[in-house]
Amino acid sequence: MNTYTKPHSGAPRSRGKFSKFGSKKPAQRFTHGRKPFRGGGRGYKKDFIDERMFINKATTKVKDVYKAKHTFADFGLEPHLLKNIITKGYITPSPIQDQTIPLGLKGKDVIGIANTGTGKTAAFLLPLIQKILLNKKEKVLVLAPTRELAQQIDVEFRAFTTGMKLFSVACVGGAPIGKQIRELDLGVHVVIGTPGRVKDLITRGKIKPAIFGSVVLDEADRMLDMGFIDDIRTILAQMPKNRQSFFFSATFGTAIAKLCGEFLNEPITISVRTSDTAESVHQDVVRIGGDRAKKIEILHELLCRPECAKVLIFRETKRSVDELGHELNKRGFKAMALHGDMRNRERERAVKALATGSVQVVIATDVAARGIDIPDISHVINYDIPSTYDTYIHRIGRTGRGDRTGNALTFI
Ligand code: AMP
Repeated sequence: MNTYTKPHSGAPRSRGKFSKFGSKKPAQRFTHGRKPFRGGGRGYKKDFIDERMFINKATTKVKDVYKAKHTFADFGLEPHLLKNIITKGYITPSPIQDQTIPLGLKGKDVIGIANTGTGKTAAFLLPLIQKILLNKKEKVLVLAPTRELAQQIDVEFRAFTTGMKLFSVACVGGAPIGKQIRELDLGVHVVIGTPGRVKDLITRGKIKPAIFGSVVLDEADRMLDMGFIDDIRTILAQMPKNRQSFFFSATFGTAIAKLCGEFLNEPITISVRTSDTAESVHQDVVRIGGDRAKKIEILHELLCRPECAKVLIFRETKRSVDELGHELNKRGFKAMALHGDMRNRERERAVKALATGSVQVVIATDVAARGIDIPDISHVINYDIPSTYDTYIHRIGRTGRGDRTGNALTFI
């Protein structure tokens, strides 16, 4: 039975005032929000998160305009690299780039504390590409928590090195190892991989840690969360002591500090993290109330809103992702799933479909959505409460990227 009209005509729809969320006065919202929130109630182990943490007005970008000390031309990069940066559409270095690139070019170790979407990828790639251009024997190893992020870094590397005859390979789990081995055998300048697969390739003798003069840990906190600490330690321990290292992390807890203490050499810390939550994201909650069956109806209504043009919905489990995907398809929404049981190619297809607007909605698990870089996601919807506040920050970091303001709604 489907009593819904097909919502995807493209014509703007106004459903009038939506009473379940977005109450005007913040003070009113907090009246019963004092109690810590243990989301879910389905047996997942979750942090206590005060629901007020899910509410925040996006600050206007004007307030925190950063005055870059450098232009890209000031860094003294090779002309070909500078040309590729400009072709990519970068005009002014972002704060993390402005501060990290000069240090990177001097060969310093850098700890970058940066929220998602701050431009950290170019902050480490540009000085490292320059290093390779000056010494073609230089090899760089980049470790990232997920295949998506690793592949995205690979795509960025290829864009910055167009026409330079520099080579990279993404060594990620879930993709055929044979192809990765063939590319490694052909010789590459940069290996970008997830810790598990990289360790596997080291064990097979296909990656030799001793030849890398530079290493990057991207989203180090996430890699630790995902249990990669032993793999990372094993890999770093086999690398040359005098290497250059860049560790990037959205948070800087004791585990990361310990790792930095052990493996970095007089690092300089650059922090561009200005607050706990992404400031460019307008965050609010959607109260479901006692009737859980209404949840899907509320989502349906939300998705009918014209401003909900490109929506990333998070769910806890692969199965629940699939279920919601089917349900939304049944209701006439263009929606695709994104989770770890899908093949790489299917996952890439889902990301591309959302990026190009051929679907309105992607429903994802946290691991699969890690590192997704789609510049204009209008809304992140936490259909299931995130298990930790850190996960929440990573989820909402998928919207409000670059110069845009985004929206995050958490169903509670
Ligand atoms: P990242 O934090 O590295 O994932 O970058 C977030 C997004 O910002 C990506 O789409 C980048 O291509 C883009 N970006 C990074 N640096 C700049 C810049 N200096 N100018 C314009 N866009 C940028």
